[in-house]
Amino acid sequence: METFVHMNPTKLIFGQGTLMKLKDELKPFGRKVLLVYGGGSIKRNGVYDGVKEQLTLAGREVFELGGVEPNPRLSTVHKGVDICKREGIDFVLAVGGGSVIDCAKAIVVGAVYDGDVWDIISKKLYAPGALPYGAVLTLAATGSEMNAASVITNWETKEKNGWYAHFNHPQFSILDPAFTYTVPLDQTINGIVDIMTHILEQYFHHTPNAPVQDAFCEALLRTVVRTAPKLAANLEDYDSRETILYAGTMALNGTLAMGTPGDWASHNIEHAVSAVYDIAHGAGLAVLYPCWMEHVLDDGVAKFKQLAVEVFGVDPSGKEDRETALAGIRALREFWTSIGAPSRLKDFGIGDERFEEMADKAMARGPFGTIKTLGREDVLAIYRLAV
Ligand code: NAP
Ligand code: FE
Repeated sequence: METFVHMNPTKLIFGQGTLMKLKDELKPFGRKVLLVYGGGSIKRNGVYDGVKEQLTLAGREVFELGGVEPNPRLSTVHKGVDICKREGIDFVLAVGGGSVIDCAKAIVVGAVYDGDVWDIISKKLYAPGALPYGAVLTLAATGSEMNAASVITNWETKEKNGWYAHFNHPQFSILDPAFTYTVPLDQTINGIVDIMTHILEQYFHHTPNAPVQDAFCEALLRTVVRTAPKLAANLEDYDSRETILYAGTMALNGTLAMGTPGDWASHNIEHAVSAVYDIAHGAGLAVLYPCWMEHVLDDGVAKFKQLAVEVFGVDPSGKEDRETALAGIRALREFWTSIGAPSRLKDFGIGDERFEEMADKAMARGPFGTIKTLGREDVLAIYRLAV
């Protein structure tokens, strides 16, 4: 392993009925709360009413910013920052999926910064501080509820940037699996793909001696593979919703990456696609991740073989290692297809017209990746595999 420091201060509040704890969790924070949410799902499924009741019980003065887009936009972050500065907001409460929480993360740093928050999102400047914020999660996918990362799109320049500030975790996150019942099938599948990809991106590294990390990743992957078909068949199966929600948080709260750097190339390659075409992040990953695997296979055959055997039950006897490894990649793609995830860019009507532009975006900060360092030609080759 590599040396590591791990800290995750988010208080995780998990289980059915836990929203009633919100009023107490708000106690340490000030009176003026900015409630941030998306396009209306929380108004249709009753979560909004439950949250408002808690805010009333807590005696908070509430300001609202609704309409956060999937793939949240800088223009919406600006609206939130303006409200915080104008009204003297003390605390931000994000209620929704990863997009809403990511948007809140940018609002809280922008609220205490005099310049344009894009300086921080585009990594020109490290965030100098933030307002405190908390989350009520309604969709299992990103892990944003228990990490300090955020992804924001500047729609004018078509840039989708992942950024991070080590102190910017939610103060608390409330996760009730029943709040995810209403997530439609396609978003449920996108979330499952995002969760699995996060695990895989931490599983693939060249660091020697990480058996605990490997076993954590494999156990999570096997569990998601076993649970996803049950959930796809019955979107209101509580146990499956609970398992996937917990898996999603564990997949990206730092637990799996202690002492191993991982390889986040695919997220970078996908962000360049969704910046241009505004497709769902998980759907883009379902197409691109297996293509990345095929492209870098020869730089990590042993680990790809391990995935095939330990997660997908491929029998390695009588096979070359590379053949076993390839069978694992095929098994992953077949699994995602079997639960209804897309497998080709043309499923979104995307051809090769803007590959050069997407490759430029992916390469904006130079070569990347740890299993194999990818340059522009590699990125283009992966897009071509994905058509
Ligand atoms: P999302 O974009 O937050 O939400 C997707 C859709 O699901 C929205 O239309 C939303 O509708 C709907 N939805 C959410 N909860 C629902 C519910 N309970 N019932 C019905 N519909 C519901 O999806 P996400 O996958 O969680 O977030 C994706 C974003 O996170 C991308 O921008 C991605 O790049 C980023 N990301 C962040 C991290 C991180 O660590 N921070 C990691 C990976 C990806 P409403 O808008 O109406 O609520
Ligand atoms: Fe992701």
